[in-house]
Amino acid sequence: MSRILIVEDERGLSGAIKDWLESQFYLVSVVEDGLTALERLSRDTFDAIVLDLMLPGLSGLEVCRRYRDVGGAAPILILTARSTLASKEDGLDCGADDYLVKPCDLRELSARLRAIMRRPASAPIVVFKVSDIELDTNARQVRKSGRIVHLLPKEFLLLEALLMNAGSVLSVERLIDLVWGTNSSLTPDTVRSHMRSLRSKIESERGHGRCLIRTIHGRGYLIERD
Ligand code: CA
Repeated sequence: MSRILIVEDERGLSGAIKDWLESQFYLVSVVEDGLTALERLSRDTFDAIVLDLMLPGLSGLEVCRRYRDVGGAAPILILTARSTLASKEDGLDCGADDYLVKPCDLRELSARLRAIMRRPASAPIVVFKVSDIELDTNARQVRKSGRIVHLLPKEFLLLEALLMNAGSVLSVERLIDLVWGTNSSLTPDTVRSHMRSLRSKIESERGHGRCLIRTIHGRGYLIERD
């Protein structure tokens, strides 16, 4: 699952971007200033960073430069109100991958993110397949016996987490970490309710097939390898 860090001090904007990216199945964290961003980037791994330039404390350019200086490799999409050629060049010179001027279209933003996160052409497409279920991590698509299943974002991420760890039991706490992010104050009941909903969409209605997702009492959930 792709983790995105948004560094943006305008809450209305970061909230809108977060909601949009979550609806596209990304796991999103938001920080509001440059120093917190660097601190977060030193602790956690992200697949891409959406970085505002005008930030309190440390500027976005400085965040970008320092992150690259310590070997940070996640692709960076700079987001800023400034539209002059000079600031664009500054951004790209300090190690950013792309540049988007505010106000930006959210579809344009996610298209640019997909482009900068795209793996090299030689890298294999990752498709997890267990029983009659296939999950394509690049297309963000799930198929059951070849037909597309429409999942909500958290259902997709739960299934992805279980498939990536097929053969291992994932505890509810671990699933909360993977799907909702650490520091989440989510209760186990919420996970159970999402799990029920996911199961109703991907498991056979007829009842004679085995359950794809097994509940291991007192330990968590498991998808067996084929
Ligand atoms: Ca700003």
